[in-house]
Amino acid sequence: MIQNKKPTKDISKDDIENKLYKVCSKRSKRVVKINNRISFGNGDLNIIAGPNGVESRKLIHKTASFLNSIGVKILRGHVFKPLTFPYRSSQYSESGVKGLEWLKEVKSEYKMTIVSEITEMQYFDKMLETIDIFQIGTRNMQNFELVREVARSKKPIILKRHFGSSLRDLLGAAEHILYEGNYKLILCERGISAPHTHRETSRYLLDIQAIPALKELTNFPIISDPSHASFWAPWVPSLAYASVAAGVDGLIIETHPNPSKSKVDPLQPLNFNVFKKVHKNIKSLHKLTEKF
Ligand code: PEP
Ligand code: MN
Repeated sequence: MIQNKKPTKDISKDDIENKLYKVCSKRSKRVVKINNRISFGNGDLNIIAGPNGVESRKLIHKTASFLNSIGVKILRGHVFKPLTFPYRSSQYSESGVKGLEWLKEVKSEYKMTIVSEITEMQYFDKMLETIDIFQIGTRNMQNFELVREVARSKKPIILKRHFGSSLRDLLGAAEHILYEGNYKLILCERGISAPHTHRETSRYLLDIQAIPALKELTNFPIISDPSHASFWAPWVPSLAYASVAAGVDGLIIETHPNPSKSKVDPLQPLNFNVFKKVHKNIKSLHKLTEKF
């Protein structure tokens, strides 16, 4: 006899009731306070902007000065970076400890809050002084040793959803952070790998639906990264607006004074003029969506 099997669901009510998501699924409100100026999950829409990598002192000073002039308080820039291919162009190298020094300068000059990616625990102590929010990138989402060690520091963490992972996997990884007693967690949707025919260079699909889906499962703040999802600057504004309409607590948007000169992913950063307009639109849109 053929038995009628129950369809398997990605995350079932049973999973939640069986307490797989012990902390994630708690319905209490979770505001993640970073410092006296920045909190996630309190209704603010936090814009995290900057270049892909901290390529030079000049680049990071120029970008921080521009962002500060339009009221963006959170600067992103990686000094350590996982790259898809091992072949690094001759002009590209991680700025590492030097880059951290430059970030430290702009942090004090412009009172910027700094986000940067941690790829290996050996860098942690060096980053600690300057980095306010540690990003765990898509490729390390399930590197549980790294995830848990960073979590133990109790520093705020942006956990990016791996481009091939379900929400169950993302929340499982998040649970590892919470298990260490670190509740300074921000979840980030950054696009998933799925077949599509949008454009040869468009590597991922921004999963807008993940935003309300995550909100149903957890109260931790959720942000979106349209730059890494689309990989294509002309689409970033639309995806940023869609994310705001879907209710994100923040956005990561790459910006660079001269995008075509960016040493990594030159197709995705917005130039300063475009960024300024988009930033203004995002702010107006956010005001509107507060009434939703
Ligand atoms: C990044 O933020 O620069 C980055 C590499 O992100 P992701 O891990 O989402 O690819
Ligand atoms: Mn990147």
